[in-house]
Amino acid sequence: MGMRVAVVGAGVVGASVARELVLRGANVTMFEQDHPGAGTSGTSFAWINSHEKRPDSYHRLNVAGCAEHERFAAAAKGSQRWHFATGNLVWAESATERDVLERRVKRLEHHGYPCRWLDPNDVRLLEPDVRVPPSVERVAYFVGEGYVLPTLLLARLLGEARDRGAELRYPARVRSVEPNKHGVDLVVDGQRERFDRVVSCVGRWTHDLVATAGAHLPLVDPEEAGGPAVGFLAYTGPSLSRMSRVLTTPRISIRPDGGGRLVLQALDLDTAADPASPPGPGSTESTILSERLGEVLTLGRSATIESIRVGQRVLPADGHTVAGFADEGEGLYVVATHSGVTLGPLLGRLVAAELLDHEESSLLADFRPDRFRDWDGAVTVAPTRGLGEQ
Ligand SMILES: Cc1cc2nc3c(=O)[nH]c(=O)nc-3n(C[C@H](O)[C@H](O)[C@H](O)COP(=O)(O)OP(=O)(O)OC[C@H]3O[C@@H](n4cnc5c(N)ncnc54)[C@H](O)[C@@H]3O)c2cc1C
Repeated sequence: MGMRVAVVGAGVVGASVARELVLRGANVTMFEQDHPGAGTSGTSFAWINSHEKRPDSYHRLNVAGCAEHERFAAAAKGSQRWHFATGNLVWAESATERDVLERRVKRLEHHGYPCRWLDPNDVRLLEPDVRVPPSVERVAYFVGEGYVLPTLLLARLLGEARDRGAELRYPARVRSVEPNKHGVDLVVDGQRERFDRVVSCVGRWTHDLVATAGAHLPLVDPEEAGGPAVGFLAYTGPSLSRMSRVLTTPRISIRPDGGGRLVLQALDLDTAADPASPPGPGSTESTILSERLGEVLTLGRSATIESIRVGQRVLPADGHTVAGFADEGEGLYVVATHSGVTLGPLLGRLVAAELLDHEESSLLADFRPDRFRDWDGAVTVAPTRGLGEQ
């Protein structure tokens, strides 16, 4: 029998890890306190990119994350699609934004990241419904980017994990993780169970769960209204839009969400985002987003905003991915990351290889949890408010 591994958390990251573990022969049990996708993976812009990722090691990780999506989608059987490598169109309006975008294109071109400039007529050929403002002379096209439909991605990952024998238990809340010399004990809803290894993929709950094992992993407070972790996502009903790409503009970002539906984001509004009180359909945010949608999309006003949700990012205190063992005995492995939709399938493969095959990944070298051992309490993540940030 293969190694007994518990994966805690059934978001995109946990599902990716579980799938790779079973593919490599492990005996996997997943625990989810609510239902799969109940966490941040259920409210994500789900843009697949390495657009503004620094330092270089974080950029490389995200570039590899994009490539892993391509491979995963290409290898899949069946006709359901969740991954759309359509590219991302970005324009700037003010002189400052233009400067930011021009410098970004230069930097990314230098890294060999596919991007080029289009004039507004080219954009009309690609996306006939997009209205480029007359003041915009050129639009940056990040050809290698795209988006996923996060629920379908999750369905695919979990489906493949379960097809190969992973057991998914929910609702099943893990109360504590206790590494010891015989393995790792999990206390789940009052019952104790022993595993050879446990992988924590509990997103914004990571600090609390790993603390039960004596480990410390600081995250930005996901409940803080207007803080760096929170952001609005508006979901429209079916619209008369033919948009097929991600569109990023200073006032609104848009991605298709299947069946003519769109997901909208306007980062400047996020100062008012409060997880404790998401705005209703008739709110100020809804009115502003509808107006902005109408400005950039012909028939944009045909789209009704059905809901606005407040997403809560998984943000380690320095903003970067955490992946590695959290205890000396190497019983508890922790994964916590922003951009987990871009990175999920890649992290799944790298983490499974580290856990089962002792293949240490150089891509993860800069992202080990022990960097927080002597943490001074500083949160070094700035809120994402600028063009093309996420
Ligand atoms: C507004 C916004 C926009 C974003 N845009 C993008 C983007 O464009 N591109 C991108 O790549 N990423 C984006 N992200 C980030 C991305 O969505 C997240 O990084 C990713 O979804 C994290 O996935 P996860 O599986 O780690 O966490 P989650 O999806 O939160 O999964 C964790 C799961 O663990 C469960 N859990 C917690 N505690 C326990 C316990 N004790 N026992 C059992 N189960 C437990 C939870 O219920 C949850 O289901 C965005 C996030 C936000 C908020």
